[in-house]
Amino acid sequence: MANINPQKEFDKLLKTVQNKQINGDLDMLRLAYDFAFEAHKGQMRASGDPYIVHPLATAQKLAEINLDLTAIIAGLLHDIPEDTEVPLSEIEKNFGSETAKLVEGITKLGKLKYRGMERYAENLRKMFVAMSDDIRVILIKFADRLHNLKTLNALPPDKRFRIAKETLEIYAPIADRLAIGQIKGELEDLAFPYVYPDDYKWITAIIPREYKIKEKYLQEVKDKIRKKLVEGGITIDEISIQGRTKHLYSLYKKLLRPHINRDLSKIYDLIALRLIVPTITDCYAAMGILHGIYRPMPGRIKDYIANPKPNGYQSLHTTVFTDDGEIVEFQIRTREMHEQAEYGIAAHWNYKEADGKTANANLKWLNELVEWQKKVKDNDQFLQTVKLDVFQNRIFVFTPKGDVIDLPEGATPVDFAYHVHSSLGDKCVGARINDQLVSLGHQLKSGDIVEIITDKNRKTPNADWIETVKTSMAKGKIRAAINKLKK
Ligand code: MN
Repeated sequence: MANINPQKEFDKLLKTVQNKQINGDLDMLRLAYDFAFEAHKGQMRASGDPYIVHPLATAQKLAEINLDLTAIIAGLLHDIPEDTEVPLSEIEKNFGSETAKLVEGITKLGKLKYRGMERYAENLRKMFVAMSDDIRVILIKFADRLHNLKTLNALPPDKRFRIAKETLEIYAPIADRLAIGQIKGELEDLAFPYVYPDDYKWITAIIPREYKIKEKYLQEVKDKIRKKLVEGGITIDEISIQGRTKHLYSLYKKLLRPHINRDLSKIYDLIALRLIVPTITDCYAAMGILHGIYRPMPGRIKDYIANPKPNGYQSLHTTVFTDDGEIVEFQIRTREMHEQAEYGIAAHWNYKEADGKTANANLKWLNELVEWQKKVKDNDQFLQTVKLDVFQNRIFVFTPKGDVIDLPEGATPVDFAYHVHSSLGDKCVGARINDQLVSLGHQLKSGDIVEIITDKNRKTPNADWIETVKTSMAKGKIRAAINKLKK
């Protein structure tokens, strides 16, 4: 790779910024490039490329996911304080305090060395604080990490493994939690071969054969469907074959599930047909037409438009039996839903409004986590909660009015009650789930409609609940209510 021309890479970056219509002063971008070029002059990457190639690749990725110009400039400058003689104060003098703060945040994250999840608590605290301060810090870190993973081969084996493992355990789950599917998939697939080399070999050996056969078949289905949809009056924005070969690691995780037990034939969405149509009404109409042609597989119709996944993902999924008895999955969505799925919080980046702050409702969990970590001094306790709040599956349940509440797996009605309101938690005495009375220790499932039964004379929660609740929010509020009573 040692023949990348930095000037050409910068021209490409300029072009991307212009094509994406990212606002801002392009002269500043040029200035940042010159500044970084000078600062890193003479430095080389382990890959043999001039160092500037790395910040350029980082900035390029940030432009591709629609970030604002300040973040792109910070991407160009991100390694200067750590790796050159030029201090942060020079960056502030030349590019202002907003850019300097971003660079400072990334520099701090760079100093956190991963030595396994258990010893990582202190680092995670700092990371979440930095993220809640300005979410762009973690997005720049993702872009930085993506390029480092692409050039990982140049590093010694133990370093490769450590960086790849950290990517799978920390960064990819955070990207998922922020609903940036595109970056999550890329991080995982780049790290996969370094962490599980044997399984990676296994999977890349079994995929192509199955995939080729199915792809050819789907090509025929695609043509037929296109014709039928057009006849049905649907405007097709895009109809494409989506291979899971793009997301090998997520396929791998799926193959490891007990009921699949490494049997590829049990995975129905190895490749799927993705349909993008103009409106939500078109999504349902298109699914109606599909089901008129092919019989849907029971239990496989998923309406993530009416019931979005906790990270905001929306789409209609259905799996059908085609005439030849083949099984094909369809994903139907609008362009807006598609961009949300690919870019998550970066999809509608509006730097003027958001100002890097976590005003977005999707990031409520992050602010709560940061508030809570200030109170908890014990690292083990902190780590347990982070694992639940960020690194584990989420469920979504409903209030009787139909509002969606997003909770970690294993959450109880008490978690739910405190999530809705403190007083609802303090006064709760029972719960009805889907109209059935349940105990307060009952574990909720996705889709449950939860109604909390309260006793208005009740003043404090039950101290035992601390043992059964899953969220940091409920734990904190129960403790606070009990302490208040003691006083
Ligand atoms: Mn870097």
